[in-house]
Amino acid sequence: MKYDCMIVGGGLSGLALSILMARAQKKVLLIEKKKYPAHKVCGEYISNESRAFLIKLGIVPEQWHLPEINQLVFSDQRGRLIREQLDSGGFGIRRYALDEALFQIARKEGVDIRTSTTCLGYEKNLQGFKLLTNAGDFEGRILCGAFGRYAFGNFNKGQTGGENWVGVKYHLRGAFAADTIGLHLFEGGYCGMSKVDDEQYCLCYLVKAEMLKKYKGQISLLESEVLQKNPRLSEIWKEGQKVYEDPLTISNVTFYAKQAVADDVFYLGDSAGSIAPLTGNGMSNALRSAAILEPLLNKVLNEEYSLAKAAKVYAQEWNHQMGQRIRAGRWIQYFFCQAALTPFFFFVVRNFSIVRRMIIRMTHGNAF
Ligand SMILES: Cc1cc2nc3c(=O)[nH]c(=O)nc-3n(C[C@H](O)[C@H](O)[C@H](O)COP(=O)(O)OP(=O)(O)OC[C@H]3O[C@@H](n4cnc5c(N)ncnc54)[C@H](O)[C@@H]3O)c2cc1C
Repeated sequence: MKYDCMIVGGGLSGLALSILMARAQKKVLLIEKKKYPAHKVCGEYISNESRAFLIKLGIVPEQWHLPEINQLVFSDQRGRLIREQLDSGGFGIRRYALDEALFQIARKEGVDIRTSTTCLGYEKNLQGFKLLTNAGDFEGRILCGAFGRYAFGNFNKGQTGGENWVGVKYHLRGAFAADTIGLHLFEGGYCGMSKVDDEQYCLCYLVKAEMLKKYKGQISLLESEVLQKNPRLSEIWKEGQKVYEDPLTISNVTFYAKQAVADDVFYLGDSAGSIAPLTGNGMSNALRSAAILEPLLNKVLNEEYSLAKAAKVYAQEWNHQMGQRIRAGRWIQYFFCQAALTPFFFFVVRNFSIVRRMIIRMTHGNAF
């Protein structure tokens, strides 16, 4: 079977694009190496800029009784607090539940989803692309990379860069504020916590790989010796009951803008560039890239646009809407995690609400 559109990766961006393309009556193949449902290292806070888009896809936050989050507390390594109202706000949902729900919607819409199938690379031919997987090859006209942050095969070829981080996540239960996202600094990283569905809280932190190495890769030692030096984090560790004992971890996390289109392949979400979680919004960026790309791909398939024109428009739009945010996020993360700069930066952010508002504006977009 020849597909109109082949998508590699069934996270938020891949699933969202597949649903939209299938609704436009296109033959869509989605390759996902894992099975649903699955946990993912993610802070699980979604800003409201994606609310309308998620509803369009079929996820209605109100029906899920998701916690509405409109307050931010931010602490430095000594536990000093900054509080800020999050005007646009957001909500929390476990990726375990969200990705599974989108997967079910995509299946109902007729997307051909191959789970437990790993893509290895692709070849170009006159008709489009041949996708190479561990379960055989597939042919299609358009190819999209939505496989997240890790490049492989000839996808994202030659694009590397940035400092290495490690991500760690737990789910907790406890008596914490339901309307608040907490962001807490510690030496070499930061930790976020906010409420999600099922009366759970997501606790997720990023630490520089070199810092974890100092503690011989022992996460529990790092947590007791470094994270819990921040009194706010120490309280969370004391009060929270872990839903599962061992954390979920990922390594080799980097933050830099890649290319939205290369070699006629369209990239979405983290495959095109990931934003520092300190500033939130990776999930919204992933969903937004699908929202931008879908009408362009349909124009190509309906012979209104050439592939080159769609590529040009997508790259421009992506850069305009996401590129600047990713760069801003990387700098903000740098200032907050650089021992010599953090006290000064924290002082400025604490004392000047205009700076706080500017940071929020620079890293968030309009509703779509
Ligand atoms: C520590 C941390 C905290 C974060 N917190 C937040 C937050 O609170 N809010 C927020 O908005 N964002 C947050 N993010 C960012 C957010 O998780 C990502 O931006 C978002 O998941 C990107 O979606 P995606 O569709 O691009 O990729 P993903 O959701 O990562 O999906 C990619 C999919 O591709 C599949 N895949 C990969 N390789 C292959 C292959 N070879 N073959 C087949 N399938 C493959 C993977 O299994 C995966 O399912 C956080 C990120 C980190 C690291």
